[in-house]
Amino acid sequence: MTGLPPTNPPLHHLFHPDNSDAYASAIRTSLDRLLVQLDSVRGPVTGLAPDLAERPVREIDLDEPLGDSGAALDEACKLWLNDAVWFHEPTYAAHLNCPVVIPALMGELLMAAVNTSVDTFDQSVGGTFMERHLIDWTAQRIGFSTGADGIFTSGGTQSNLQAMLLARAEATARGATLGQLRILVSEDSHFSLRTAARLLGLPPAAVVEVPVDEARRMDARELRRALEQCADRGEVPMAVVATAGTTDFGAIDPIEALAALSRSHDAWLHVDAAYGGGLLASRRRRPLLAGIEQADSVTIDFHKTWFQPVSSSALIVREGRMLGHATWHADYLNPRGAAMPNQVDKSLQTTRRFDAIKLWLTLRVMGADAIGDYFDAVIDLAHEVYDQARAFEDIEFAAPPRLSTLVFRYTGRHGNQEEDQLNRTIRSTLFSRGTAVVAATKVDGRQFLKLTLLNPKATLADIAGIIEQIREVGAELDGALVGAAPRGPLA
Ligand SMILES: *Cc1c(COP(=O)(O)O)cnc(C)c1O
Repeated sequence: MTGLPPTNPPLHHLFHPDNSDAYASAIRTSLDRLLVQLDSVRGPVTGLAPDLAERPVREIDLDEPLGDSGAALDEACKLWLNDAVWFHEPTYAAHLNCPVVIPALMGELLMAAVNTSVDTFDQSVGGTFMERHLIDWTAQRIGFSTGADGIFTSGGTQSNLQAMLLARAEATARGATLGQLRILVSEDSHFSLRTAARLLGLPPAAVVEVPVDEARRMDARELRRALEQCADRGEVPMAVVATAGTTDFGAIDPIEALAALSRSHDAWLHVDAAYGGGLLASRRRRPLLAGIEQADSVTIDFHKTWFQPVSSSALIVREGRMLGHATWHADYLNPRGAAMPNQVDKSLQTTRRFDAIKLWLTLRVMGADAIGDYFDAVIDLAHEVYDQARAFEDIEFAAPPRLSTLVFRYTGRHGNQEEDQLNRTIRSTLFSRGTAVVAATKVDGRQFLKLTLLNPKATLADIAGIIEQIREVGAELDGALVGAAPRGPLA
């Protein structure tokens, strides 16, 4: 450092009416870059390896600003955008990432510049009520009656954590101790429930995995047995979690049967509809969520099957007053008895993005039916692909599709162990070639590949093409294996 910093910092970088030309020009420059980039995308990924992606990033000295937005954008393009993963590409079929709808992007632009924070009315004004209106609308779609409430969150992980916090508070209010509490989930439920249990001070044994049936839904008879076992041992079932759309299989647990069992054992029923929540907008498949209105709380990820940019999720509760379990009154923000409305009373976050504006603009421009039709289209596509690919002798499906995922493995001429490695290598080969991005998962200890379809513009030919690539690469690698020593290149 030489000398003292200037007392009058240059203010031309601040968002301010004086700088609106600079702002507009910066946005336009970014937009132009993005459009040029979009035009040159030739696949879902370039296949850059982690070490090659990391090195140039590490070389940047963050204490030496470039002082020029064009140069900084060039640099960011080199480090990120040129090799970004593009969820709008039909051959991206890995995780629950969606291409995003344009109305939501308008909201993202406005929200970021205004920097609204929806914790209190005096930081958001209309935003507070737009969020509340969307929560009420979602609660109505679920089938909750008046008295329901909820809050936008950063994602399903946070929504599930908050749901478990409320369930824990209800159980301990009735006298249960932490050590007695049990959360009953299907063996295919999302891992965030396990981290939630850990954060809430519950021992690992608190999460009880209930077996699934042949359709990979929680087996209600097994749940009954597990609940009876809890009672016999003096344990307290604080929550039953029904997953509406498991991450791997899209399976929807039998919510009505689980609701009845939860009620008879005084357990909180949480429905994790992070994935299947899009069915609330579907004109054809809404009945798949039958019973969801009997839940105590519901997780919905708008940034999955509602085609919203990350982040956008919500926790909706049947009885709004339950959200009070998360409330803390701070003198400076939300004092007890304050006249000003606020959302921070209901949230685990304090400063919070106005993510609701994205869904708001989406509904006002497109309407919910259009979103539901998008989701229906990718579910239809998964079924069409399955009908075609199930005939292949070298492809083994773990289960028929339920929502928009396909779980299968390439079967070569070797034993299971070589095949596990073979499938892992197929996946990494496609990624490094940049021709397709697919996911992997284990089913009963065996390695499988997974396609998650969330792109309504993808066609049967696009997805059949991914399976064709998998079979070709599989045959190539399998052939190499035949000629190789027992511990060959894939061992
Ligand atoms: C994705 C997912 C989550 C976690 O949601 P995030 O938004 O990624 O935090 C939870 N449950 C299920 C069933 C999911 O598919």
